[in-house]
This record gives sequence, C-alpha cells and structure tokens, in this order.
Amino acid sequence: MKILIVEDDADTRALIKMLVLKRSHDVLDFEDAESAWETFQKDHFDIAIIDWVLPQMTGLELTRKIRSLAETGENADIPTYIIVATAKDSHDDLSAALDSGADDYITKPFNSKILNVRLAVAEKQIIHAIRQNKAEEQLRLSAIVFNLSDEGIMITDQDNNIILVNEAFTKITQYDAKESMGKNPRFLQSNLQDRAFFKKMWHTIHDQDFWQGEIWNRRKEGEVYSEWLTIRVQRNEKGEITNYVGVFSDKSQGIRAKQELLYAQNHDRLTRLPNRFQFVETVRYAISVSKKTKKEIAVFFIDINRFKLINETFGQGMGDYFLQMVASRLKKVVASEENLARVGGDEFTLLLEDIQNLQDVTQIAQKIINDFQTPFMIQNSEIMVTVCIGIAMYPNDGNDALVLLRNADSAVYKAKEIGINNYQFYTPEINARAFEQLTLEIQLRKSIKENQLLIYYQPQWEIGSKKMLGMEALLRWKHPELGMVSPAKFIPLAEENGLIIPMSEWIIESVIRQILEWKSQGYLEYRVAINTSARQFHESDIIGFLEKMLAQYAIDSSSLELELTERVTMREGSQSIDKLVKIREMGIHLSLDDFGTGYSSLSYLQKFPIDLLKIDQSFIKNLNIRMEDAAIVKTIIAMGKSLRMKTIAEGVETEEQRKFLHENGCDYGQGFLISPALPASEIVSFFEKTEK
Ligand code: C2E
Ligand code: MG
Ligand code: MG
Repeated sequence: MKILIVEDDADTRALIKMLVLKRSHDVLDFEDAESAWETFQKDHFDIAIIDWVLPQMTGLELTRKIRSLAETGENADIPTYIIVATAKDSHDDLSAALDSGADDYITKPFNSKILNVRLAVAEKQIIHAIRQNKAEEQLRLSAIVFNLSDEGIMITDQDNNIILVNEAFTKITQYDAKESMGKNPRFLQSNLQDRAFFKKMWHTIHDQDFWQGEIWNRRKEGEVYSEWLTIRVQRNEKGEITNYVGVFSDKSQGIRAKQELLYAQNHDRLTRLPNRFQFVETVRYAISVSKKTKKEIAVFFIDINRFKLINETFGQGMGDYFLQMVASRLKKVVASEENLARVGGDEFTLLLEDIQNLQDVTQIAQKIINDFQTPFMIQNSEIMVTVCIGIAMYPNDGNDALVLLRNADSAVYKAKEIGINNYQFYTPEINARAFEQLTLEIQLRKSIKENQLLIYYQPQWEIGSKKMLGMEALLRWKHPELGMVSPAKFIPLAEENGLIIPMSEWIIESVIRQILEWKSQGYLEYRVAINTSARQFHESDIIGFLEKMLAQYAIDSSSLELELTERVTMREGSQSIDKLVKIREMGIHLSLDDFGTGYSSLSYLQKFPIDLLKIDQSFIKNLNIRMEDAAIVKTIIAMGKSLRMKTIAEGVETEEQRKFLHENGCDYGQGFLISPALPASEIVSFFEKTEK
C-alpha cells in the first residue's frame, strides 16, 4: 500500500515513518499540508496520516480537500483511509475531524503500539474494500455477459420458480423478465413431449445435478421451436438445492438460418438449381466415389442455342421464364436434381454417375435432345430451340472436376460445329466407341431374325472319370462382317436395352428343341445348363415362361439347369429366393455361376435351393501358381459339401488342374482340357464316346 504522512514535527514524523516501513508499505512524508496536497492531486494513497495542527493549511482543510477530490490511479475507487492525529482530550477537534471525512484518529503524543494497531485496522479496511470492489466489478461484468449471451438463461429458486432471466431468454421465448418472474419454466412447454420425457429428465437432474437435451417449447406467439437445453443444479454448503440454472439455444433458428444461407450460396435463384460452385463440389464427390467403385462418371455441358434471341425478342422477364421451363424439362431427365446445375446464362450441366455402359450416357444425351424438339410456349408463340451437348468422362477425360467441366465445355464447341441438336464426347475415341455401340445395337436387333445367333455347347464331365455329365449352352453371334462376336461384348448391351429378354427366351426354347432332337437321334437326354440374365430373372415372367415351355415340349424338367450369378440372386433377397424355390420345385436344376467373385455369405447361400456351385475360372487359372487361389478353391469345395451342393470347376485347361480338383473333392469340371464350346452337330461325337 501507499501511505502519506503529513507531520511538521520531525521526530514524530520519523517515528511514524519507521512504523509504516516496518509494515512494508511505500511511504511519502511531508512537513506541511500545502506540498502534501500537491502530491496528492497527482497520486492516489491508500492511507493518509495527517497531523491536525499544521502551519498554513490545517489537517482539517487537507482532509476536506482530499474528500472533495475525485481520485485517480490504482484503487482510486476506494477512498483514501484518513487517520488524523490530534492532541489528547480535544473533543471538539475530534468531532470536527470526523465530520470533515476522516476515518479514524489517534492522539498525541504517540504510542507506537497504538499506532500499529490503528494501521492494522486501516489496512484491513482497505483490503476489505478492495475485495468488495472487485466482487462488485465482477458482478457487473457477469451481468453484462449474462445479458450479452446468445443463449437464453434462466435461473430458478429451489422450488423451480424463475428468479432471473436474461435478454436472450426474452428474444427466444418472447416472454420478458416481468412476465416470467416467479413462474415455473413449465409455462413454456409445447405439450409435444410427454410426461414420461419430463419425468426422466427430472430424475436425471436430481441424480446427476445435470441434464442436457432437446426440448420443444412454445413461444409466446404460439410457434413451437426446439431448443438445446442444459440444466445445472446449484447447491449450498449443506448440499441443499438452492437454484436451477437453465441455459438454452434456439436450435430451429440457427439451423434454418444456416440452411438458408447455404442454399443461397449454392443455388441459382432463378431456376432453384445448384449453381456452378455447388456442381463442382458434387462432381468432386462423385469422383471420390468413383475411385472406389471403379465406375465411370460423365459430365454434360448443355448449351441452349437460341436463348439470346428469346431474351431480345420477348424481354428479360420472358427470358427468365424460359430458363425456368428449360430447367424443369432437364429435371425430368435426371434422377436427382442435385446432379443438374445452371452454370451460366443459358448453360446447364449434368452429372451422370455409376455408368455401366456407354449407352447409359448416349441414351440420356439423346433423350435431352429429343425433349427439346417439343417447342416452348412463350406468349402464345411456339418457340423452337436446339441444344448441343458436350460430354467429358471420368477418368478418361480428366482427373479433376474443373478439368472435366472445361473439357465438356470444349466438346460443346465440337458439337456446335457439327450442327444443331447433337452431342459430342470430348475424346474422339469415345465418340467412335459410342458410334460403334449404336450400330452394334441396331445390328443386334436384327441378329435373331437373320439367324446370326447360334448356341454352342460345352461339355461338363465328372472330374475323376471324365465321364460326360451334361453341357453348358453358350451363345455365339456370327456377325456377317465382324465374324464371331464375343458374348462378353454383346450380352451387356442386350441386357442394357432389354433385348436380352426375348433373346433368353429364344435360347431356352432352342435348347429344349436341341435336346429333343438329340433324343430323337437316339442319344440320352443330357442336361443342359443355360445362363440366366439379370433382367430376365427379375423383370420377365420367367416362371410363367418355363411352365409354358414344359407344357409345350415333352422334356424332362431335370434336363434343364439355370445358371445364375450371385449378383443376380442377391438382388431383392427374399423375392429372388421365392422365385428360385418355385423353379426348383418345377424340377429344374439351379447352379450358381462364377462363384467366389461375389459376396454371398454362408448363411445367405443356405437359403438358396441351389444344386451346383460353379467355381469361377479365375481361381482355376492360377491354381498351381497362387497359394491363395488353391486355398479359395478348397474352401469353396468344403463349403459346397457342408451345404450339400455339388461343385463344378470352370475353365479347367490342364491335367494338373484337374488332378488338384479331383484330389480335393471337386465333383465336376468344364473347360478346354476336354473341349471348348462347340456347335450342336459336333457335340454328338462326345455322346458317342461316353455312351459306348
Ligand atoms: P460363363 O457363364 O461363366 O461361361 C463360361 C465362359 O468361359 C464361356 O465364355 C466359355 O467359353 C469360357 N470357357 C470355357 N472353358 C474355358 C477354358 O478352359 N478356358 C477359358 N479361358 N475359358 C473357358 P463365353 O462363351 O465367351 O461366355 C462368356 C460369358 O457370357 C458367360 O460366362 C456368360 O456369363 C455369358 N453368356 C454366354 N452365353 C450366354 C447366354 O446364352 N445367356 C446369357 N444370359 N449369358 C451368356
Ligand atoms: Mg455360365
Ligand atoms: Mg462362369
């Protein structure tokens, strides 16, 4: 503390000074009130010890002056503690001194013990005042914070009646402090949460002195809102509850505001479609997904050709309306509006994901072009517009969203050069591929009629004795110019455009006729396995068709086997199982093709009425090279045994492979080791061999 001493007697002054210093305070001492006053005006002192009788200015005057002064400096809020020193017994002086504003007095001549006590009292008073001052300050600050908080705060007493609320409370609930005072916070309830909810809440509060959760309350004007509320219990030293403090934020407002802001940032106001910014993000995300799925994606840049003219002819208002109509036409083409965007005046973009086949892309492009051939109605006039579409593919045309967008944009220019209403891929090779597929499709449609489709048969045999078991029917397309086209190339295409269904039915009927023909030639009725396509299985009435076939032809149903892949059977789980069960009940055999490449679990397989597991040829190929493949094959065989299914290995090419399979308990084989797929006429030689 800083102490000021005013004493004209040098000895007394020295004595006081010594005592003060001993109490480790800073001290300044003066002989007269005049110079003390000068210093005092510049600096704050915690304690002043002032002699009453001084030359010119008296202690009384100095005390008055100090009291009238608004002090500055540290602790200036706390008035200087003034002790006056007077002659003993001068009572008049004493009361005058206290009246002038002194806090204490001490009589002369000094007794150092008493002065010490007086100083100690003064210090205590000052310390107390400082503390109180700080506490008040803190209280003031707390009140500011309390009211500045964005979170609503309410404090209730031990009976849970509101005693204090802040400004945010009023903002959120629309009840002001006066209206809320003394009420139980229950008055805010929306009644959307039941009593059990509150019972549980109170149980937690009393158990843990704390609760946090979402509450649905009702504002004064009636609107229900959700708040995130935290309740804490305050207890006194005895552990009794004194208060509950509830702090809450208005969830609905925050979320709504954020959502609105986000929406505005990411969408085009006119068409309500995502804007360029958002589209780029969507493409970025699609790229990251595509990296995992390994499926291609396509970015379309769609340019509307006569927009400028419309704007100039009909005015901007109509132009805007036109763009909205364009947007809604485009929306009909896409699965999700989030994949469509307006990126410029008359420029739209579209993202296609999960592309299986180039046709997925060309079909959509063609559909957009076709849709725009219908005129737009603007002020009773029919307006024709044309579109050009540029397409960039990932990963072929760029690794990054912006590059894809740019390349799609530059493909638009190519499309424009070629003419109106067309689409172009960024990469010439893809254009060629798309063209090839297009012509391939046209030709495939003709293939059945023109007898270009043939069925080859590949023998299946017992792994040990090599005795013939049956055959797999494999489709061949004898193209007049291209020669033999692989089914791997045209089956997916037929699957895509739906041709697979009539094709599959044609195959089944042809196989049945072939079996009967062999029979009429005096051979045994061998079983023939027929590959089943996904669309045939899921989308056509396969059961009805098979029933019809069995009724029409005098064939033993057990001469037929349907091959399905895991991918096909796993789709639409229980519905697929029902179908399989029905087919099996008709006496037709079932096998699981390409087994090991899918993800069927043992428990899942158990539900299938499958007779035969066809171990995929990829595992057989490296049987004697890769340990893992050998292990997988052994596992599949063991699995088959435990499920009471037979196993057949596809693509057996060497004697070594056959031996391994035989030793490990595989039942049958199929592959070049014995024979590739052959035309029906050549298969006969196999029958002869085994039937001898
Ligand atoms: P898949 O059903 O797994 O047929 C086995 C494929 O392996 C056949 O090819 C067959 O010729 C070939 N292969 C047989 N033995 C060997 C061998 O030892 N080594 C090698 N490297 N390959 C062998 P393909 O005929 O090209 O058929 C390919 C795929 O096309 C078939 O696979 C099947 O999924 C599909 N497919 C073929 N014909 C039809 C059909 O009539 N209908 C349907 N829906 N799909 C068919
Ligand atoms: Mg097969
Ligand atoms: Mg296979």
